[in-house]
Amino acid sequence: MISEELLSLLVCPMGKAPLRLDEHRLVCTRCGLRFAIQDDIPNMLVEEAELPEGCHSLSDLECVGAGDAKVDAS
Ligand SMILES: [Zn+2]
Repeated sequence: MISEELLSLLVCPMGKAPLRLDEHRLVCTRCGLRFAIQDDIPNMLVEEAELPEGCHSLSDLECVGAGDAKVDAS
């Protein structure tokens, strides 16, 4: 279980927005990226995060479109 304290420290690696706990994953309150939680440790790797509906790549994220986050060229 992720504690409220840890949750309050974590932000989305893309737009630096707060995250909310959604059952077994963390969801960005802004762009909607979903980060899996494995063994109580959130996997904050953007490359392994699940894209929100309607997004086909990281460049489709709201925070990237607004210019607040950048996608690695790699
Ligand atoms: Zn985000």
